[in-house]
Amino acid sequence: MILISNYFLIIMNDDKVIQDEETNNLNYIKWMKSILRRSDEVGKVELPITAYIIDEKGRCIGRGSNKRETNNDPLGHAELIALRQAAWIKNDWRFNECSIIVNLEPCTMCAAALVQARMGKVIYGAEDYKRGGFGGTIDLSNHESAHHKMNIIGGILGKDCKHVIKMWFKNLRNQK
Ligand SMILES: [Zn+2]
Repeated sequence: MILISNYFLIIMNDDKVIQDEETNNLNYIKWMKSILRRSDEVGKVELPITAYIIDEKGRCIGRGSNKRETNNDPLGHAELIALRQAAWIKNDWRFNECSIIVNLEPCTMCAAALVQARMGKVIYGAEDYKRGGFGGTIDLSNHESAHHKMNIIGGILGKDCKHVIKMWFKNLRNQK
């Protein structure tokens, strides 16, 4: 009897986890759609990458878009700009309870920064097999230097995210 009730308990717990994950996925899609809506504007000068940082109550506390060309700043990646803003608003550099949502897999520099910031969850759209730091080239979340475990979810609206990047590079080639 105990075994059976334990079994049901596990099933119930699993159901709850799946439901929560579905609700979360819907929210990720909502944020990702908002990021994609910004890509025309951002893409006028920069590779259209935008990152949002969402706190434990579901509020956006940081937003950054690529500013590398605009500011001639090698550190001007969307994720780092969003991190700075959110840290200023939170008045804290630790992000264990927060999530970051970005349309392209963070590069190795940003991935390392997110490990340092102890980001709870990283949600991205398209994989980056040339520069990605969460599996595309190397997985820094699983690296022995990562003192912090983070949850990585890739592929949220992945097809749409890939399309935006692909079209941007295509337009760039056509301009040359
Ligand atoms: Zn980056």
